[in-house]
Amino acid sequence: MKYKRILLKLSGEALMGNRQYGIDPDRLAEYAQDIKTITDLGVEVAIVIGGGNIFRGVAGASKGMDRVQGDHMGMLATVINGLALQGALEDAGLPTRLQSAIKINEVAEPFIRRKAMRHLEKGRVVIFGGGTGNPYFTTDSAAVLRAIEIEADVILKGTRVDGIYNADPEKDAKAIKFNNISFDDVLRKGLKVMDTTAFTLSQENKLPIIVFDMNKKGNLLKVISGENIGTVVNV
Ligand code: UDP
Repeated sequence: MKYKRILLKLSGEALMGNRQYGIDPDRLAEYAQDIKTITDLGVEVAIVIGGGNIFRGVAGASKGMDRVQGDHMGMLATVINGLALQGALEDAGLPTRLQSAIKINEVAEPFIRRKAMRHLEKGRVVIFGGGTGNPYFTTDSAAVLRAIEIEADVILKGTRVDGIYNADPEKDAKAIKFNNISFDDVLRKGLKVMDTTAFTLSQENKLPIIVFDMNKKGNLLKVISGENIGTVVNV
């Protein structure tokens, strides 16, 4: 296996499957199977989960809601998704721990770096909920932050698109995919991989990002094995 410890970032929207809102249990079960396959091979897996399928602070703010209030709702949404994912992983037979950046002790452990790393060493999948615990951030920033903290080898950003293109492939049929691209080139070309805060944090810490299609069964294993099926962003 090319990577020993990974941080997998799943957006909230990924959990919707083909629905318009909420969580698709079948999609969750598929993800759980893919994650089990790689943990069975000894890969240590930490996951940061988004909340966009339930609530986004900016969306609330655009309708007149207080932004910080909305972001608190968004962070709680990521805890809900974390619980759903934890259930699916447990159904697949995987030991898991959910750690939250906001204290919600009856529901999830608080985020404690050393504890998270110990869980990983013991083969438990660690899900990080609650984002960074701060408003005005995204779960992409949480993913990069946690990945650096737990010394992950790479961030795997599982999306429904199979990599980074020079134009939006869902709108432009002539869009060309990059197999590899540098952090500098992503910024120079104005490509969207993550929000700027998350992206530059990854760049400054030389943490590679792989964007790939998580919705195709077996892709996660391919990425871990070093097969380049998505786009690798590196220094
Ligand atoms: N959020 C936040 N701080 C964080 C992470 C998330 O306030 O550190 C809130 C924010 O309102 C965001 C929402 O939680 O819109 C859901 O997270 P995100 O939009 O990153 O989810 P995704 O796009 O991955 O589904």
